[in-house]
Amino acid sequence: MNLSSRIIDAKESITLKINEKINKITMSGQHVYNMTAGQLPFKPSPEFIHILERQLNFLKSYQYSPNAGFGALRKKLIGHIQEKRDFDYSSIEGEYDCVISNGSKHTIYNILGALVDPGDEVVLLTPYWVSYPEMIKFWGGVAVEVRSHTFDNFTPPIDEIENAIGDKTKVIILNSPNNPAGIHYNDEWMKEFAKMLKKHPGVTVISDELYSEISYFDPRPTFFYQYDTSLLSQTVIVDGISKTFACTGLRIGYCFGNKELMKAITKLQSQTTSGPNSLVQRALIDFDFNLLHNFFDPVKQQLRSCAQITREKFKNHGLSHCWYQTTAGFYYFLDFSRMPFFEKYNVEEGKDKSEEIVQDILEQTGVALVPGAGFGHPNCARMSMTIELAPFEEAMERLVSFMAKKS
Ligand code: PLP
Repeated sequence: MNLSSRIIDAKESITLKINEKINKITMSGQHVYNMTAGQLPFKPSPEFIHILERQLNFLKSYQYSPNAGFGALRKKLIGHIQEKRDFDYSSIEGEYDCVISNGSKHTIYNILGALVDPGDEVVLLTPYWVSYPEMIKFWGGVAVEVRSHTFDNFTPPIDEIENAIGDKTKVIILNSPNNPAGIHYNDEWMKEFAKMLKKHPGVTVISDELYSEISYFDPRPTFFYQYDTSLLSQTVIVDGISKTFACTGLRIGYCFGNKELMKAITKLQSQTTSGPNSLVQRALIDFDFNLLHNFFDPVKQQLRSCAQITREKFKNHGLSHCWYQTTAGFYYFLDFSRMPFFEKYNVEEGKDKSEEIVQDILEQTGVALVPGAGFGHPNCARMSMTIELAPFEEAMERLVSFMAKKS
């Protein structure tokens, strides 16, 4: 079969490979602490399930939705984001709309498809969500990376972002709170970013805010356009139900932005997937989003406890200097290159051994992580904090004591 060069060049998801390995080890009878998940290990709120069940009785739940999603839901989502972020689209120049898609991955893919021509540059801040570079490549764009480090809490300097902007720059992707770092860029950073962006009116920012509600350590995340709402004219806000509703399998994501761009996205969507799942959209129209607070408070409590355990384990094993404070989202990003055990791998400057190290950790401690190279940082790994507290503590003890040993 002659496959297209586009698909031959695409990388397979790294989580697939590690999951194969986990299955093998579990089949052999060994216990695995699976810390690779990007989702919550339980069902959505009972109220939402009840509304979904009720919607099963209506014919419209089984038929095509409009290409951009149901008008009533789009209107509700626009109202919700305006209230949450405290701005009003009607007071900003231009017209704005919302498009609902089959998950926010699909949303971002659509936005890039509507904006990026072959050769256009898209600025990415490391560490980044694994799918961004692949989606950029798929549309013929070129990813330009701006790096961050553990010691600056994975927050890239604004002047380096500005230096990365050139004649070919079409888009900057921001993801705060961040997957995989588990931090959000602070208020000061967002203010500076707003000032910098104001100088580049031709650049569109995709603000991926999928984890905005999952902040468990004050101060809460803010967003650059809140400091200068005129920047909303060059911003596309992305959100979805996967993480905050515990509904990764229901596949609903959405975006808000300039009406012309939303129309372009709708055109693309109309010729690819059509409108998203009608049943789930109709349930979302009826669901009271305020109920999410009750549902999510215990999750935040759990994430806070996991972050606390992480800090203690690093401290107890003499690795406090390698630790950083996470604030939001599900993850902690481990930088192996700063840990004592890294020495034995003899890694040459600029080379990556994260896959090999993650395999060793899995075999020797039973802890499964996601190798970090796909997130734009060699010799790192993503650790998910969505498992129960007791196994989390056991897993951290095994993991940190392993990393603290030189041989
Ligand atoms: N954006 C970020 C930062 C993510 O972590 C994910 C999923 O893990 C997505 C987008 C896509 O989520 P979904 O397509 O489930 O809405």
